[in-house]
Amino acid sequence: MAAEPGILAPLDVERIRRDFPILSRQVRGRPLVYLDNGASAQRPRAVIEAERDYYERHHSNVHRGVHTLSQEATGLFEGAREKLRRFINAASTKEIVFVRGTTEAINLVSQAWGRPRLQPGDEIVITWLEHHANIVPWQQVCEQTGARLRVVPIDRRGVVDLDAYRAMLGPRTRMVAVAHVSNALGTVLPVREIVAMARERGIATLVDGAQAVPHQRVDVRDLGCDFYAFSGHKLFGPTGIGVLYGRERVLESMPPWQGGGDMILTVSFERTTYNTLPFRFEAGTPNIAGAIGLGVAVDYVESVGMERIARHEHDLLDYATSRLLTVPGLTIIGTAPEKASLVSFVLDGVHPHDLGTILDAEGVAIRTGHHCAMPVMDFFDVPATARASFAFYNTHAEIDALVRALGIAREMLG
Ligand code: PMP
Repeated sequence: MAAEPGILAPLDVERIRRDFPILSRQVRGRPLVYLDNGASAQRPRAVIEAERDYYERHHSNVHRGVHTLSQEATGLFEGAREKLRRFINAASTKEIVFVRGTTEAINLVSQAWGRPRLQPGDEIVITWLEHHANIVPWQQVCEQTGARLRVVPIDRRGVVDLDAYRAMLGPRTRMVAVAHVSNALGTVLPVREIVAMARERGIATLVDGAQAVPHQRVDVRDLGCDFYAFSGHKLFGPTGIGVLYGRERVLESMPPWQGGGDMILTVSFERTTYNTLPFRFEAGTPNIAGAIGLGVAVDYVESVGMERIARHEHDLLDYATSRLLTVPGLTIIGTAPEKASLVSFVLDGVHPHDLGTILDAEGVAIRTGHHCAMPVMDFFDVPATARASFAFYNTHAEIDALVRALGIAREMLG
């Protein structure tokens, strides 16, 4: 494992930026200021080269061939699985299922875990601040089984009401599925506590870690959850690859989700026997290059150091929050005391989409819209927000550029 650099050493952000080729490009004649990392982060050269090297030198299908290339591809693919296991401190590589991303991971759990065991009247608890990916799959399985969705409220800061949560846990609660970090508000949820309360009552738990793993160290055994889901592309890795962590005992108890190659041991027309974990949940040829690239992305962030990343991003969050509050007419949506490095806001009299367009003309990329969290927009009674989301390669100067561009937008539209 790469040595964790000294906790006190600050990040050399300029050096890090040179590892990300896209950060040196211009947009509309200006240096790119990329503040849309919550939607998808950028890749370091090491990840791009790992995928390229794989295709240029090692590509073949995995797990099936005795020839050299197939063995090399399998070695690289399974090596990536081990890197991911270590990254989140899972007990075994059997617990690391490669999927397309967070969305697919949650669909897998709702269908393979939920569908066979949920009964009419059973309850699934989520919170008000979930991404649609952690709402819709549960709604679908509720429709299929007669189970019911219960939603824990949030307050005006965007903090989940833990008393209401506790009160909601009852004899019919089967699953608690919550975000680790809200993509729309930045709220960091006390998932350890949330999971512990569910486990005491024998309730299964899933954590949507899409917005957490790029920003802080995650230890699934410390969290104690049954499932943890995340996407590679937000973690500086390729698109189309992600991880479902599942506790071995729980995965063992689940039937396969999709049928096909790789997930079987034997097939006859009378009967099929299923493969061992994690392959039982990986039907068909996987995204081999993606998994290898994600393994290299994990090596990269570990070489930078998750603690140093978290510290730098906290500094960015504090700086962005104080600078944005100097913009007249700007309101921050999501003011929880524990936040990850993103800021959602609205500007009086300016629709977020118009804002996004003007900022783009200044080279500043932010996200505007409902962020796939429409219930959050309804709660705050806004149609959409603008969201600046930071990664460890962002700088104070880029936040200054954002604030300058907001000033221009106000003059044009306000
Ligand atoms: N959950 C959260 C909290 C997210 O932010 C996202 C992506 N915006 C997702 C789930 C879905 O991730 P993906 O589109 O990579 O499956």
